[in-house]
Amino acid sequence: MLRTHTCGELRLEHVGTTVTLCGWVQRLRDKGGMAWIDLRDRYGLTQLMFDEGSTAAEIQKMAQGVGREFVLKATGEVIERVSKNPKMPTGDIEIRVTAMEVLNPAKVPPFIIEDETDGGDELRMKYRYLDLRRNSVRSNLELRHRMMQYTRRYLDGNKFIEVETPVLIKSTPEGARDFVVPSRMNPGEFYALPQSPQTFKQLLMVSGFDRYFQIVKCFRDEDLRADRQPEFTQIDCEMSFVGQEDILNIFEGLVKSLFKDEKGLEFGAFPRMTYDEAMAKYGSDKPDIRFGMEFVELNALTQGKGFQVFDAAELVVGICAKGCAEYTRKELDGLTDFVRRPQIGAKGMVYLKCNTDGTFKSSVDKFYSEDQLKEWAAACGAEAGDLILVLAGDKNQTRKAMNELRLEMGNKLGLRKRDDFKPLWVLDFPLLEWDEETKRFHAMHHPFTAPKKEDMKLLATDPGAIRANAYDMVINGVEVGGGSIRIHDRPTQQLMFKTLGFTDEEAKKQFGFLMEAFEYGAPPHGGIAFGFDRLCSLFGGVDSIRDFIAFPKNNSGRDVMIDSPSTISAEQLKELNISVGKA
Ligand code: ASP
Repeated sequence: MLRTHTCGELRLEHVGTTVTLCGWVQRLRDKGGMAWIDLRDRYGLTQLMFDEGSTAAEIQKMAQGVGREFVLKATGEVIERVSKNPKMPTGDIEIRVTAMEVLNPAKVPPFIIEDETDGGDELRMKYRYLDLRRNSVRSNLELRHRMMQYTRRYLDGNKFIEVETPVLIKSTPEGARDFVVPSRMNPGEFYALPQSPQTFKQLLMVSGFDRYFQIVKCFRDEDLRADRQPEFTQIDCEMSFVGQEDILNIFEGLVKSLFKDEKGLEFGAFPRMTYDEAMAKYGSDKPDIRFGMEFVELNALTQGKGFQVFDAAELVVGICAKGCAEYTRKELDGLTDFVRRPQIGAKGMVYLKCNTDGTFKSSVDKFYSEDQLKEWAAACGAEAGDLILVLAGDKNQTRKAMNELRLEMGNKLGLRKRDDFKPLWVLDFPLLEWDEETKRFHAMHHPFTAPKKEDMKLLATDPGAIRANAYDMVINGVEVGGGSIRIHDRPTQQLMFKTLGFTDEEAKKQFGFLMEAFEYGAPPHGGIAFGFDRLCSLFGGVDSIRDFIAFPKNNSGRDVMIDSPSTISAEQLKELNISVGKA
C-alpha cells in the first residue's frame, strides 16, 4: 500500500506517529512561510501543513506549486492543531509534512469539486468521474451499496437463490418499447434486451427453484423523466407455492428491514388500500398518504341546483385545504391556472372559502345558498378558516386533475416532508386496461398476471371489471414495487392472450415456450419487483434517480461522457446485415 492511513481516520490519539497519506488536493492555502493543503480521499479530508522551520525547502516549493485535484503522497508527523476545526472529523490534528511526491498532476477541473458545485448538469455528466468525487454524489452511491447488501442478506436469509438471467433475449411485455440488438450470426434477426426477467423467473419456478431473486438491469425504451432511465435496476423476485399474502409479508419485511437498518425507523403493518379506493380517495394508484386532503365526492350536494357545469359532470369532487380561507384572488387564480395547464387538463376550478367569521364565500355562490354551501363544508370536514377546492367533469380525468391539485396543495402547505415515510400496499388492480387508441385491452400489469377466480365470470360480459391478484408497494406517492400472482396453466394463459387480442399463432410464436413449460408441472407462483434506483432515491430524499446511478443517461437517453449512442462503421453495419437510411 502506498499509504499508512486514509484521509478520514487520524485523531488526537495519533499525535506523534509518522504517517503517509495519499489523496487529491481539495484546497491549498499559501501564506509564504507556511502553506496548508487539504488532502481528500473517499474517507475524508486531512490537513497537511508545510512550514519553513520543519519542511525542506524543495518540498515547501513543491507544495506551493500544486493545484486542485493533484494526486499526492505525503509523509509526516501527526501533530495537534493550534486552531482546531470542530467541523472536520480530523480537525484536531494536521500532518507536518517531511516528504511528498506528486503522483499525478491534474488539469484545472471544469467545475468545483465541493458539495456545492458551480457545474451545470450537462457539464457534470460529461465529467461524471469528477462529479463522483463530490461527497454528496458519492454518499448517494454508498447508500445504494448498503441497500444492495441489506437486500441480499435479507433475501439470502429467507432462502432466495440469486440467479442471473440472460440479457440477450426476446421481447418481454412490460408495456414499453424494446431495445433491440442485431445478431451477426443470424442475419436479419434481433435480440431484445429484457424489460424485466419476467418469463425467466417464472421458468425458474417451473424448474423447482422455489425462491429466486436477482438485482438486475432492465431496459425500457420510453420517454424519460426524473424517475426514469432507459436502463435501471430491479430487485426482482419470484416464489412458488405461495398466495398473495405470503408475498406481501416477505417483501413488507424486506422494506421494513431496509428502513430499520438504514434509517433506524420502525413500522407497524403497512396499510392496504384497494385500487378502487385509491382512485376514489386520491385519484391515483400511487397515493401519497403523508397527508390527508382526501377527495370528497359532492355530486349529491351540488347537482340539480342550476349550475350547468356541475349538473353536466360525471363527477364533482372537492378537497379541503386546512387554514387556507385567506387565500388571495391571486393565489386562487394561480391554482386555477395550475389545473388548466394542458398536462392537467381541467377546465376550471371552483372554490369555497369557509371564513373565520362563519360566513362562506364561493366562486359559484350565486347558484348556492349559504345553507347549501354549509353542507359542502360539512361533507368535506371543513372548519372556519379552511378552503375547499372543487373540480368537476369526466370521472377519470377529474380524478387525475384533482390528484395533481392535491399534490400541489400538499407541496404548498409543506405536508410532503422528505423525512416522513408513509408506505402502503395498493391491491386488487384491474386485470385489463382499455386503450382508446388501439381500441383493445392491455394487461394492466403484464399478461402473466392471474385474474381473481371469482371475477372470471365477467370475462364475456365486462372484462374491464375483472380484478387481478396484483399489488404495488407505494411510498410517499412513489410506486417502489409491483407484482402479481401468476397464471400457471396453459388454458388460462391462452385465454389471457386471446383477450389481449393475440391470435393463437402470435401467442405461440412469442410465448409458446412459457405455455409449454406450464404443461410440465408448473407450481402456483407469484412475485414482485422493486425499482431499486427509485427506492434508493426515496431513501436519499431526492427526486431524481440519476443521482443514485453511477453513470446515468440524460433526458435524451444519451451518455454524454462516452458519447453514446453513436454511429457504427460501414463494415460493422455490413457484418450485421443492416442498412441505415439517411436521416
Ligand atoms: N416484471 C414485473 C415488472 O417489471 C414485476 C413482477 O410482476 O414481478 O414490473
